[in-house]
Amino acid sequence: MSDAKRRIGVMGGTFDPIHHGHLVAASEVASLFHLDEVVFVPTGQPWQKSERHVSPAEDRYLMTVIATASNPTFSVSRSDIDRGGTTYTIDTLRDLRAEHPDADLFFITGADALAQIFSWRHAEELFSLAHFIGVTRPGHTLSDPGFPEGGVSLVEVPALAISSTDCRARVAKGDPVWYLVPDGVVRYIDKRRLYRDATG
Ligand code: ATP
Ligand code: MG
Repeated sequence: MSDAKRRIGVMGGTFDPIHHGHLVAASEVASLFHLDEVVFVPTGQPWQKSERHVSPAEDRYLMTVIATASNPTFSVSRSDIDRGGTTYTIDTLRDLRAEHPDADLFFITGADALAQIFSWRHAEELFSLAHFIGVTRPGHTLSDPGFPEGGVSLVEVPALAISSTDCRARVAKGDPVWYLVPDGVVRYIDKRRLYRDATG
């Protein structure tokens, strides 16, 4: 099938773990922007020790697959994981553009990440590759640092004060994450004993 006129959302994230905030944001944007598909793209494994331990890419990938499997419009791309190393949004979008040359791409990102947009590499090319959609969530506000005209839309998603950081901390303390993440993801975290050690 031709990609002509297909509208594809791209949701990048560490997804360590994926939670219902991510899923609600993707669902809401898909509805508002009439997207045919939302591709979740878990980030590659950082080369260097960053300030925190990031779970293995395969675990983050599988949790993302588990969380999205029941939605026919959601899919998962291995592009950033297979490229390896630290993920830059420009590489994600170039790969997806090559895969879907005729589609309209909508990059969905939290307002927190969007605020750093000018520290991203190749900011101008980014805006030529995709339309950017910033989703706001509780505790994050966005001040427009001068985005290109028409390049960015802001969307308020239903308030879900869920973060992966909080989910990891809860597991480390032995607190439940039921209903913050999909049931299959709760089971997977348990099976793989992820996040048990608060220090990583
Ligand atoms: P961490 O706490 O480790 O930073 P996170 O919850 O922010 O994790 P990420 O994988 O970093 O999750 O998020 C991927 C994208 O989803 C980011 O653009 C982020 O802003 C957005 N996002 C995260 N949580 C929510 C939420 N509750 N509602 C809407 N968007 C969210
Ligand atoms: Mg984050």
